[in-house]
Amino acid sequence: MAFSKLGLSDPILKAVSELGYTAPTAIQQQAIPIILSGKNLIAAAQTGTGKTASFVLPMIEKLNAAHYGHKLRAKRIRALIITPTRELAVQVESSVSQYGQYLNLTSMAMYGGVDEQPQKQRLLEGVDILVATPGRLLDMAHQRALHFDELEVLVLDEADRMLDMGFIGDINKIIERLPAERQNLLFSATISQDVRYLAKSAISDAVEISVSSNSAATPEIEQWLITVDKDKKSALLSHLIQQQQWQQALIFIETKHGAAKLVSQLEKRGIKAQAIHSGRSQAVREKLLADFKSGELQLLVATGIAARGLDIDELPRVVNYDLPYPSDEYIHRIGRTGRAGSSGEAISLVSKDDFKNLCAIESRLGHIIERREIDGFPVKKVVPVSILNFVPKSKRK
Ligand code: AMP
Repeated sequence: MAFSKLGLSDPILKAVSELGYTAPTAIQQQAIPIILSGKNLIAAAQTGTGKTASFVLPMIEKLNAAHYGHKLRAKRIRALIITPTRELAVQVESSVSQYGQYLNLTSMAMYGGVDEQPQKQRLLEGVDILVATPGRLLDMAHQRALHFDELEVLVLDEADRMLDMGFIGDINKIIERLPAERQNLLFSATISQDVRYLAKSAISDAVEISVSSNSAATPEIEQWLITVDKDKKSALLSHLIQQQQWQQALIFIETKHGAAKLVSQLEKRGIKAQAIHSGRSQAVREKLLADFKSGELQLLVATGIAARGLDIDELPRVVNYDLPYPSDEYIHRIGRTGRAGSSGEAISLVSKDDFKNLCAIESRLGHIIERREIDGFPVKKVVPVSILNFVPKSKRK
């Protein structure tokens, strides 16, 4: 299918073609006509599937068509995209500007952790499309720096993630302030019970669609794991980096303390890496992400939240130094590689402590992950093979 068949106008088609997109991905083929028709939508799609364009393209098409004669009033917005993290807000806003570069729409990313004054100043002129994190958004609304009476569209992006991060209260308070008449779009990697509950309170009569992660934009992610004793993990990682001559890897770890420790362990073996986590300033985080994107920085050790929103088309590999819980986080993480036409690999270092998480992940995947052995790293504490229908205690009825 061609982009031109989707009902998007020339300035948008031109921007998309200049970005090198030749055909719409599965989620784009499904979502774009639904959104253009004005319906509400609930979509199960992960990062890497092209989901951002699937809502941004029809949204800007509609806003642009209704633009003529429309004068934005001070502190008013026409579309609101709520994202879980500032990194994702920045990234989505940059997609909005890219896709809308031949249109006259304005956009802004707004998030916490930075001075609010420039953001307030910008809102004074009104903004067509605001991409914001929940806390700062609510704050601005409370301060009357922002009014929602002209809002036409609401997007909840990565809804499952926002719930995991405890934003449900803020989101509900924001939704209460929105005009009843609006289009609602919800995107989530998985549609869990909690997401369904949120969707019910925010969205009525939605069309539901779902794409699997094996869509056009995520061809093949090769997943494999190595079982290893916990105290040998950093030695094994150093060995893999050196022996397999990794060009670039995003290494996930559970805690910020662990991230800093791993960086120094790698350094002792002559391997240069940097750590990104919530304990580092926004400026440092942005610099690290930029260096990693440009390829100047080859190894980035990240806690899950810090790496959220990190979007690199040709990231060859992600490593789970620790296995995450819940299992959806694993899916999010591996979705960082193998994006938009390139292939990628996802490697997990699994010690006996990780066994429960491994069971949950493999149950979620519906298959066991291939195990590989690396010479020189015999395992003392054996990791058993998973039970695929494993249900964590907290979820048992
Ligand atoms: P997302 O799932 O929105 O995070 O997008 C994943 C990546 O796919 C981004 O880097 C987009 O630039 C890219 N992308 C989105 N749509 C397409 C498309 N139709 N063809 C090629 N790449 C795309």
